[in-house]
Amino acid sequence: MKKISSIAGVLLIFVLSALALVVIYDKGKDQKPLRYADVPPETVDWINNLGKGLGDILSSFNPIPRPTPWNNDGDLGQDPETGLKTLEDEYFIFYFPESLTKNAYLCQELAHQAIPHLEDIIGKYYYPSDMNGRKVPIYLTPDQKSFEKLMAKIYSSDRNYDNTAGITIHEISPSGFFLNAIALNGHYAFSSKAYTKNVLWHEMTHYCFFASLDYNQYVNLPMWCYEGIAEYTSLPGEKPRFSLLDIKSLKKDCKLTDNYFPYVFENYQGGHSIFCYMEEAYTLSGLKKFLKSTYKEGIPRAMQNNFSKTINQFEADWKESLSIFNW
Ligand SMILES: [Zn+2]
Repeated sequence: MKKISSIAGVLLIFVLSALALVVIYDKGKDQKPLRYADVPPETVDWINNLGKGLGDILSSFNPIPRPTPWNNDGDLGQDPETGLKTLEDEYFIFYFPESLTKNAYLCQELAHQAIPHLEDIIGKYYYPSDMNGRKVPIYLTPDQKSFEKLMAKIYSSDRNYDNTAGITIHEISPSGFFLNAIALNGHYAFSSKAYTKNVLWHEMTHYCFFASLDYNQYVNLPMWCYEGIAEYTSLPGEKPRFSLLDIKSLKKDCKLTDNYFPYVFENYQGGHSIFCYMEEAYTLSGLKKFLKSTYKEGIPRAMQNNFSKTINQFEADWKESLSIFNW
């Protein structure tokens, strides 16, 4: 009797251990492999300093993997105390006060129109299925004061938002790229339908561009690149126009290898003109190939591999084009 019970005991332990292994295995199956397991410290610095002060991107690196799923339950806009309305579909959630209901429907239409365009230019659109279930959360505010109030709640910082029409807030962790929010400032963003489109598409370009980068390598992209491509994508078919004085300062100030050009317009409109020149000289398909290589290997190698030019040669050609094409 004693013997039988000890055999039963051994069997029980065996069965329990096997069950435990199955449970551990199943848990492991749910955990996605870390996407950015090996981000170099220089890239972490770049992510944390991106657009500090100047731009419309708030960016941070989180060393702790973000648990899945990444749905929108934790969005500030879901808190009933904010009093915000929601407009939700399969890809987006808009959060807005009732007074902006019409603008919310317009933004929803424009956001859907952006998808095929971003797929084409940026190379990929990031759907909720690419983001562990997270839809793109877009906040709309009626004026400067409410925009600043919202920003204080989403992203505490003493930053100045006086000239900010729209903003993108994102986080990069070992689990991947996470979009916290896009927010539009009604003080500027709703002045016309064309401008609403420009601001919204600009921020959505940031979302897809930064989600496309490979952070397991040394990334140090300059501002002209990420702001220039956002202007290029959000103003299809348009070219920036410069005065002779602007051209003079672009030629004097802008080194394509610098992190920032000195004046804001040089990064935005100047950056836009760099992509217009690229399309003119190397066709749209050349521009798209350049972007694809930039995500993986940075700008100097992308220029060399796609255009057989060093970054300095390309810079000289672009500056030459500023006078020739009269943008
Ligand atoms: Zn921007």
